[in-house]
Amino acid sequence: MGKKRNGHYCVVCASVLPNEKFSGKGHSRHICKKCSKKSAAEQDEQIKVNKIYGMTRFMNLSKNNKKQLDKYLNDDSKKVREAAKSVIEEFEELKRIRKEDDQLVEKIASMTEEEYEEYFDEDEAYQDDFFSDDLPF
Ligand SMILES: [Zn+2]
Repeated sequence: MGKKRNGHYCVVCASVLPNEKFSGKGHSRHICKKCSKKSAAEQDEQIKVNKIYGMTRFMNLSKNNKKQLDKYLNDDSKKVREAAKSVIEEFEELKRIRKEDDQLVEKIASMTEEEYEEYFDEDEAYQDDFFSDDLPF
């Protein structure tokens, strides 16, 4: 006899809930009582949305996840399509920011000392303009 866990993960509401929130049937399917009452389509939709947002835990979008997101863009559910779109956009924005960072690092690395000073002087001038003088930094 194994030790009983006192919580279960519901794949629909994406949270760990106490055992009593699951019926025998729901238990095995990892869907809590409350979510079991939803229609299969609603459950399916929510599971997909959870999966989509789960991808944002990673720094990079894997090829498989990207493929899946592309598929979800054509899903029957608007909620799923919108979630997929927003996550794709989030990763594209992240990629763009990283590229800019890389370019800046490259630019700085290739600068002469004078260029470097000039570059950051300009930056400072901009900041002076931007922040008020009585800030402590
Ligand atoms: Zn649930």
